[in-house]
Amino acid sequence: MPAKQEDYYKALGVERGANADDIRKAYRKLARKHHPDLNPGDKAAEERFKKVQEAYDILSDDKKRQMYDQYGFYADNMPPPPGPGSSRPGGGMGFEGFDFAEYARQQQQQQNGSASQQEMPFEGFGGGSFRDIFSNLFGKRQRSQTPEKGADLEYALGVDFWQAIKGTQVRLNISRQETCETCGGTGSAGGNVAVCPECDGTGQITQMHGAMKFNMPCQRCGGTGRLRNVCPTCRGEGSIARSDVVEVRIPQGVPNGSRLRVPGKGNAGTAGGPPGDLYITIRVEEHPFFKRDGDNIQIQVPLTISEVGLGAKIEVPTIDGRALLKIPQGTQNGQKFRLREKGVFNSRKNARGDEIVEVVLKAPTVHDERTRELLRDLAQVQTEDVRAEMWQKV
Ligand SMILES: [Zn+2]
Ligand SMILES: [Zn+2]
Repeated sequence: MPAKQEDYYKALGVERGANADDIRKAYRKLARKHHPDLNPGDKAAEERFKKVQEAYDILSDDKKRQMYDQYGFYADNMPPPPGPGSSRPGGGMGFEGFDFAEYARQQQQQQNGSASQQEMPFEGFGGGSFRDIFSNLFGKRQRSQTPEKGADLEYALGVDFWQAIKGTQVRLNISRQETCETCGGTGSAGGNVAVCPECDGTGQITQMHGAMKFNMPCQRCGGTGRLRNVCPTCRGEGSIARSDVVEVRIPQGVPNGSRLRVPGKGNAGTAGGPPGDLYITIRVEEHPFFKRDGDNIQIQVPLTISEVGLGAKIEVPTIDGRALLKIPQGTQNGQKFRLREKGVFNSRKNARGDEIVEVVLKAPTVHDERTRELLRDLAQVQTEDVRAEMWQKV
C-alpha cells in the first residue's frame, strides 16, 4: 500500500518555513532537471519528476499546505486543522495514526459482512469517501482528451448615462483560462506514453486491509494503465489562469441590462476545443433628470402660472443640449409634449427615439405686496369655479 508520509519540503529541497516564491523557484528548477524529455528512458528521473509535481501541488496551495503541515498529508474533505492548543498525540497525525483496518472492520460489521470488492462506499474523514482520499493523495485523474468548448465567462459592467447614450470603448481586465503555450493545450509534455508503474499497466490497484481486499481504479493513471508526461507549465491542465485586457466597444444607445457577447474571450477549450465567449451585462447609471424609456427620453419641466396662462416659448434640456419648446396658452399641469428625434439613437433600427416633456405647474412663491396685489386682482376677474364640475357629480 502506498500509504506513506511524504516529506514534500524535502522533495523540493526547501525549508519548512519557505515562502511561496522559494517554493516556486525550487519547483521550476527541479521540474526542469528531472523532466522526462531531458531524461529519456530514465525511470528514476520520471519518479523524481512526479514527486516534485506532487509536492508542488500541495505546497503551492495555502489551504493544502496548511492541512499538510498539520496532518503530515493532504486530502480533500479533511476536517479543518485543530487550532493551536488542542492536543494531537504524537505531534501530528499521519497515515500511521489513522487506522484504516479498524475502519474497515467497523464498516464491515455495519454492512453485515457483505463487503463488495469494488466501489465499496467507505466513509472516512467527515464524509469524504475512501476513494476520494486516495485520489487526492496519489495524483490527479488524467484529463479527458476529447476536445470541448471552453466555459463562457460573465462580466457585469457599469457605465454612466452619457457613455450609454454616446457609446464608448472600455478596457476590461478579465481573469480567464488561456491555452497553455508550452503544450498547446494538450496538458502533455510530449515524449512516449509510459506504462503506469503504479498498476503495471492494468489500471487497477489491489489493497489488503486485514481481511478486506480493495480493488480500485489506479488513480495515478486514471485507470488507463498509461501515463503521459505532464506539462510542467500547466501541470497537465492544458490551460493557465491569466489576467487579460479585453477591449470592448459599447454601442451607442445601449439599454440598461443588455448583454454583449465578445466571441472567443471565454476560457480556453480543452484538447484543442474552441474557447468560450465572454458575456458582458451592461448596468447603466441613472441621470438626475433624464429618464430612459426604451429609445425615448422622459423629462419633467416646471412651468410658472403666467407661462401656462399666457403661453410661452421656453428652453428645455435634451441630450443634444438646449431645445425650444412652445407652450400654448391654457396648458395644464401634467400635459406632455413630444420633441421628435431628440431621444436615444438605436443602432439596430438606425433611428432615434423622442424626448417626452411633461410639464409640472409650479405655484408662485409670494413674499412681496406687489405679487399679492396682482393675485387678488386676478381672483377678482377670474371668477370661474374650477370645482363646479366636481360638485355636479357628487
Ligand atoms: Zn496506473
Ligand atoms: Zn501545458
